[in-house]
Amino acid sequence: MVRVVLATHNQHKAAEFQQILGDAVPGLEIVAYDGPEPVEDGVSFEANALIKARTAAQHTGLPALADDSGICVDAMGGAPGIFSARWSGVHGDAQANLRLLLDQLADLPDGSRGAHFTATLALVTPSGEETTVEGTWPGRIAREARGAHGHGYDPIFIPEGYEQTAAELGPEVKNAQSHRARAFAAAVPALAALAGTRDRP
Ligand code: IMP
Repeated sequence: MVRVVLATHNQHKAAEFQQILGDAVPGLEIVAYDGPEPVEDGVSFEANALIKARTAAQHTGLPALADDSGICVDAMGGAPGIFSARWSGVHGDAQANLRLLLDQLADLPDGSRGAHFTATLALVTPSGEETTVEGTWPGRIAREARGAHGHGYDPIFIPEGYEQTAAELGPEVKNAQSHRARAFAAAVPALAALAGTRDRP
């Protein structure tokens, strides 16, 4: 088993990664990170994911995986983007964040409400080898919050091909199609190479 540390203090996220990657990449064990948290002062998802993965790799001496994600609205030039978690000014207040975004977009007609979620994963080895991959989930911003599943901006995000929000659609659709699912899939070759089950592409 090759151990990979997941650069998050969120045990739930570690279990989710293990679940998704356990089947796709045999020989890989995801372990939770217990160490210093870096300042996420990058100006892109990629930069922030790399900052988190580098810190965890240096601190643990293990290969480290980190993710950074957010929602990007076309009419706002990609904002909230890296500021998604604290758009309203209060870090992690999902209700306030989505309410502010809805207010800001109140005058936009249905055809101009395009948006996407992005997730970037960074894999960094203790010797300094760095790989990043990205997954996006296209859609649009709803006119009001709907649905009880998920978290963050799920109640106001309508994925392409649907009329319901991600929070109405629930985990089955989300786990199969989301930005994070797509980023995981894109990371499989690099992780498999690490686990020694496949040559690096
Ligand atoms: P982080 O990458 O866990 O720091 O997440 C950044 C922020 O982006 C979260 O706090 C959410 O506001 C938003 N976000 C990222 N992924 C999702 C998602 O799948 N659904 C809803 N909101 C998300």
